[in-house]
Amino acid sequence: MIVYKNDKEILAIRNSNQIVAKILSDLSEMVRPGIQTRELDEYAHSKTKEMGAIPAFKGYRSFPASLCTSINEEIVHGIPSARSLQEGAIISLDFGVIYDGYYGDAAVTLPVGKVSSTASKLIAAARQSFFEGLEQLKVGNRISDVSYAIQQYVESQGFSVIKTFVGHGIGMSLHEEPQIPNFGSPGHGPKIKPGMVLAIEPMIAVGDWNVEILADKWTAITQDKSLSAHYEHTVAVTEDSVEILSLLDTNSDSTYVKESKHA
Ligand code: MG
Repeated sequence: MIVYKNDKEILAIRNSNQIVAKILSDLSEMVRPGIQTRELDEYAHSKTKEMGAIPAFKGYRSFPASLCTSINEEIVHGIPSARSLQEGAIISLDFGVIYDGYYGDAAVTLPVGKVSSTASKLIAAARQSFFEGLEQLKVGNRISDVSYAIQQYVESQGFSVIKTFVGHGIGMSLHEEPQIPNFGSPGHGPKIKPGMVLAIEPMIAVGDWNVEILADKWTAITQDKSLSAHYEHTVAVTEDSVEILSLLDTNSDSTYVKESKHA
C-alpha cells in the first residue's frame, strides 16, 4: 500500500531530510585521506542527537552504526570501522534520521583526494542518473519511467546499474511502497501521484552488476570488485512539481527545527 502524504507531512519529512542534508554536508568536508570511517560515523551519530533526531539506520535489522560507509567496490551498507580512507578511493555515505516521527534518507559518493578519471566519471554518472530519473517523476507517468531513465543514462555512460537494491517510498517508515528499481522498461508500476514521497537511489558500477554480500552480512560489493557509486535523495511529488527534500537549504539552515515544532 502506498501512503500518500499531505502538505503537513511533507513538511515534516522535509525537516527530517534537512537534518540528513546538513550532516551529509558536514561529513563531505571531513572526507580526506587518513580519516577512519568510524570517525565519520561518530560525527553523524553525535550531530544527529545534538539536532534532536534519532539515527535511523542504527539498530535497523541490527545494523551496528548510524552511517553506512561503502568504499570502492562496496556498493551499499558498508559498516564503519577503524579502516582509514586512502588517497584515490571513493566512498559512499548513506545516512538517515528520524525526526518528529518521520524519516529522512539520502546518500552521496565522494572522491578521497585525487581519484582516477574513471572514478570521477562514475561518481558524476551516479549523480546525473538520479536527475535523469527525476525528470520522469511527474504526475501521469509511472514509476518504471523513472527506472528506465536511470538505466538508459547509466548505460549510455558505459556503466551498469545494480539490480539487487531499489529505491523506496519513505515517511513514517524507512521503507514503504512503492519499490523503485534502477532498471526496467518504461510504462509499468504505480502511477505517479501527488503526495508520493520517494527515496530514489541509483547504485551503479564500472563493471558487472552482480552483487556479493560479505561475511559481516551487510556489506554489498560488486562480484567483479569493480568500483561502485551511489546517489540518493528523498523527493516529494506535489500537484505541479517535485521537491528534493534532502537538498540542503542553506537559507533555512538554522530555522527548520523550530518550524517543525509548529507545523
Ligand atoms: Mg534509501
